Amino acid sequence: MEIGPKNGQILVITAPSGTGKTTIIDIVRKNIGRVGYSISHTTRRQRQGEVNGRHYYFVDRREFEKMIEADEFVEWAVVYDQLYGTSIPSISRELSLDKDLLMDVDIQGAREIRRRFPESLSIFILPPSMDILKERLKGRSTNEEVNIDLRIKKALGEIQQCRDYDFIIVNDDLNQAAREIEAIIIAQRAHRKRRLPLVQKIFHL
Ligand code: ADP
Ligand code: 5GP
Repeated sequence: MEIGPKNGQILVITAPSGTGKTTIIDIVRKNIGRVGYSISHTTRRQRQGEVNGRHYYFVDRREFEKMIEADEFVEWAVVYDQLYGTSIPSISRELSLDKDLLMDVDIQGAREIRRRFPESLSIFILPPSMDILKERLKGRSTNEEVNIDLRIKKALGEIQQCRDYDFIIVNDDLNQAAREIEAIIIAQRAHRKRRLPLVQKIFHL
């Protein structure tokens, strides 16, 4: 897949389940324009408040496996026994509109995206503490059957890997965490890679 210089910045966002990634991404996209989001496919069940085609494309395992066979994913992974994947159109559609692109993927997906798109930037979001992470998982799981202890155990392993990411953000105060991501996006828009083509045109450099 060709990502040319006209294309926006890819930002891969990873966090242990329950940290607040989805909530933060929603705020960032409300606060600043031209920020796209790659809508993943998943076989997991839809949560209350989630919209098919906005948060995810909810598909069954057969449909997902057919997409794997047809090579329709940039990356896919098994997370908590469910399949999750980023389809090629979900990325190319957004980048062709010259937006920046937020990708919410797990550690396996982030590794693969970094490999395929070396110019992408990665952001790891941490909870303020493990106790708070547990509270957030419990708070969200009223209508869901989730094994909180399993997620906490997995989170400990995931957190070890935050050192591989370009940016680390602690989601204590929600608005502050969103502001930090907005600052990264806005700063990247002023990077010479992005600005020079326009400046060259205006000033005939
Ligand atoms: P993730 O997408 O990382 O799994 P969610 O965005 O679903 O996590 O957030 C998990 C829960 O934590 C939700 O109930 C959300 O409202 C809550 N939450 C997220 N960020 C904060 C925060 N900074 N302070 C308090 N609660 C938060
Ligand atoms: P949730 O079910 O809580 O929405 O997501 C569970 C995990 O799957 C999160 O870590 C999330 O980042 C990850 N995830 C969501 N979409 C994708 C995807 O397309 N690819 C990969 N590899 N992980 C994903």
